[in-house]
Amino acid sequence: MGRPLIAGNWKMNGRVADGRLLAEEIAQRMHRARETDEPQLPECDLLVCPPFTLLETVHRALAGSGVALGAQDCHPAASGAHTGDISAAMLADLGCSHVIVGHSERRHDHGEGDALVRAKAEAALAEGLVPVVCVGETAAERDAGRALAVVTGQLAGSLPESFEPERLVLAYEPVWAIGTGKTATPADAAEVHQAIRGALAARFGAGAAAAVRILYGGSVKPENAAELLRAPEVDGALVGGASLKSDDFWRIAQAA
Ligand code: PEP
Repeated sequence: MGRPLIAGNWKMNGRVADGRLLAEEIAQRMHRARETDEPQLPECDLLVCPPFTLLETVHRALAGSGVALGAQDCHPAASGAHTGDISAAMLADLGCSHVIVGHSERRHDHGEGDALVRAKAEAALAEGLVPVVCVGETAAERDAGRALAVVTGQLAGSLPESFEPERLVLAYEPVWAIGTGKTATPADAAEVHQAIRGALAARFGAGAAAAVRILYGGSVKPENAAELLRAPEVDGALVGGASLKSDDFWRIAQAA
């Protein structure tokens, strides 16, 4: 496995002062770890994805920390008559290096389907951003024994045509585990990650499939991070609720 990635999805949380404080706390921990070696620098890459309104503030607060900045969504078009939307070019302009696309909350709240997710991922790539493409089954789909079919189906429809493993991140996020306190067992996560890796190998070749980072997301906390991150084929975590506390986010990073 390459270097893990721990990504925080702040979702629709935080006013400017909250975002600044949280980002400053994370940056300070990074600076302190670099200067004193105690606590140790996490052996993973870190990414935070605040809401659009906090991107500029967080970008400033993270400057020089080595923590990357991402957004939670983008529009597939570069510009134009799309009231209320934000393009990948605008995100790059604000200092983002990553953007989450296809998060289940957008798939469900906004009816986003695979074709749109794929168009967003293509738009992100065109602007030099790394898309974090999310897939995951619902509880009903898992109970019906369709988890692997649903996830690989979403994957087939959501991935951009050109695939460079270092320019794309995947996140397996079972919908039933997001914000619920329920987590996939490490074995369940490994099974789905393995299926994702297999589907990627069939489409893009074994080398590319092995090199891409596949994150697990769904109620990752400091208490369960180590065992989930040790599961085979798990290359990091996409963390929602627990990324809103710098201490929890840091402890998860330390577990990687
Ligand atoms: C998420 O928002 O992607 C997520 C996994 O949330 P949580 O960690 O709160 O379940």
